Amino acid sequence: MNRKAVISPPVITPSEVPAGAFMLSGGLAARGIEAPIHDLSLGFFRWLFLEHAPEAGYTNCLPSIEYLISPETEFYNPHKHRSVCGVLQSVLKSYSRKFPGWHLSLMDSIPPGVAHSPSTLIALARGGSTPFSGYLNRWIERTRGTFDHALISLAYLSQLPAAVETAWLLEQAGIRVTVGGSLVSALRDTGRGVELLNGCFREIAFDDGRSLTGVDEPFLSKVEWPVFAEKWNYFSSRPVIPFPLTTGCTWNRCLFCPDRNKPFMNVPVDNLKKVLAGAPDNPVVHLIDSAVPVNTIHELLPLFKEKTSGFYGFARPQGDWLRGNLLHDMAESGCLMLQTGAESGSSGILQRYMKGFSPDTAQRVIASVSQAGIRNYVYLLFGLPGETEDDRMQTLELVRKLKGKIDYMNLSIFNLPEKCELTDRAEEFGIEPGEYDSDAPVLRFYRPFHSLDGSEPRTESRDFLKQVFRPDPAVGPILKATPRWFRAGHMALMEKQGLYR
Ligand code: SF4
Repeated sequence: MNRKAVISPPVITPSEVPAGAFMLSGGLAARGIEAPIHDLSLGFFRWLFLEHAPEAGYTNCLPSIEYLISPETEFYNPHKHRSVCGVLQSVLKSYSRKFPGWHLSLMDSIPPGVAHSPSTLIALARGGSTPFSGYLNRWIERTRGTFDHALISLAYLSQLPAAVETAWLLEQAGIRVTVGGSLVSALRDTGRGVELLNGCFREIAFDDGRSLTGVDEPFLSKVEWPVFAEKWNYFSSRPVIPFPLTTGCTWNRCLFCPDRNKPFMNVPVDNLKKVLAGAPDNPVVHLIDSAVPVNTIHELLPLFKEKTSGFYGFARPQGDWLRGNLLHDMAESGCLMLQTGAESGSSGILQRYMKGFSPDTAQRVIASVSQAGIRNYVYLLFGLPGETEDDRMQTLELVRKLKGKIDYMNLSIFNLPEKCELTDRAEEFGIEPGEYDSDAPVLRFYRPFHSLDGSEPRTESRDFLKQVFRPDPAVGPILKATPRWFRAGHMALMEKQGLYR
């Protein structure tokens, strides 16, 4: 027998089906191979909040879960959303306390000991008393005998502790385990320490899924609605379906991008039609592209309007979005939110790192998105090598000019990828990549660096954010409105004055 199952270990925010597991199972389904999705992150949180919490006498989570699945109104109310998430987080905190050194949240799991150390994770998994052990043992007991080959899909480091334990328990139960997904390929291609995973997993697959089919064609060339092992019961008011229109990136030139070697491909749009044909009612499509392609979106608007109750995704703020009535047509067809990578208000910084748009264009795109009635979630990046106080002030100025037009904001501080063009050309950009103090055998995606001119853009940015940027009257209200938990998916479904879709 060779019955397969696709497993997505905790922790991933349980608001939508994990994209990697969904595409793997959907691609196998399109080739006649049934491999039901077991979303153990959703399973773990449901078990914790709805079974374990009442038994252990924690705060009653039921009303919070009910609200997230079925708010009284069409969209989430920001205040209510914040308070129900607070209840869930407090239960997670109380539960974590039973496991010394562990920290769990709705989107992360941090084990005790050295960070990202596979040997520590193996020891914890074999010890059998992690926050996941109780749930995983029950799940294996329940599903034992329904599959012989587990395909563990890994997308985030937050899944790794539970993935190591899941693989160990499945192998103890005599089940073959293969591990793959974007995390393992990213570690091999752009990180460090992938060989350490050999101690955690016997079989690792680095390809896009095609080795499971025996046919050498791009895996996403065929996808349809997959089979689920459990009922669809995500913590979301509408079913959110992840789907990429492309793999790789349409732009592919930013110098600090670790993903530039990913092969580019347009995913056939027919696949989206097939996926939507099997989806639950009123789906919202989460476009998971690195940068949503403008032309394809235009072509898909009739499909979105007819078959979905909305869509959202990442956009480079390039001038193409301003063509004709595109943004208004998108709003009419259900576009709920664009996540815009504006990154900096300094044209010098954007040019230096080959972002391919100017701050003026980004400003016009964001303003037009808002005017069209689409929510704006703006991403800003601070601390790039060579960034000065003047550059940072220009970013603040950009936000000030957009007052009232930005709904949510994501602020990050630059990390130097282990591998990218900037790391290769470090000296040209005035930096020298370094090494971490510890040479412990751990997984790494980033390296420390120092600037040759003595400046410290990361530290300076941190101070700037704390002392100048966050307290600014143009910024504070946006940060206050940005939900801390269930980010993108629920932001697209959050009520906003004047918006009705
Ligand atoms: S737009 Fe994003 S994914 Fe594309 S090259 Fe730039 S950083 Fe990379």
